[in-house]
Amino acid sequence: MSTPRLKLFVHKDNIIKLRCPNCLEKKEIPASVLKNKYKLKGRCRCGAFIEADIEYRRSYRKETNLAGYYSYDLEELERVKMLNGEIIVNLKLKNCNIINISTYGLRLKNLIPHEIKVDDVFHLIFQLSSGTVIENKIIVRNVHDDQAGCEFIDGYGTDIGLLI
Ligand SMILES: [Zn+2]
Repeated sequence: MSTPRLKLFVHKDNIIKLRCPNCLEKKEIPASVLKNKYKLKGRCRCGAFIEADIEYRRSYRKETNLAGYYSYDLEELERVKMLNGEIIVNLKLKNCNIINISTYGLRLKNLIPHEIKVDDVFHLIFQLSSGTVIENKIIVRNVHDDQAGCEFIDGYGTDIGLLI
């Protein structure tokens, strides 16, 4: 069983966080145990072979234009997801665009009047151009007009790694 090659980031505490793309189990690996600093290879307990490139740059940011939907209410989000099966990209109900994504977070542009405040926590779903649907709990770090800078709460960037 093989999985796509991942790109993973070394976090502030020198930890590499990954989520097995097959079974979604989360793992934390100290960067110091890697024999080859820039590659990680291993087998998950589920049997999936995981291969990743390790990125040491602290902030990598990619400009994007992805339809997103955020909600403070997880049940509402679940309902929105179900409208079109599991896909959000064609979702007429999108309420934001993801305008960039970085290692630790993203910036969204509201498409509706909003009352987002710093330290708000909400759920966000969006779809990468590859079709992968990303769902994350995020915390708001700054707000400027219709834009909000947000940080992923758990910081496990497997799918984000696939994007960037
Ligand atoms: Zn696994």
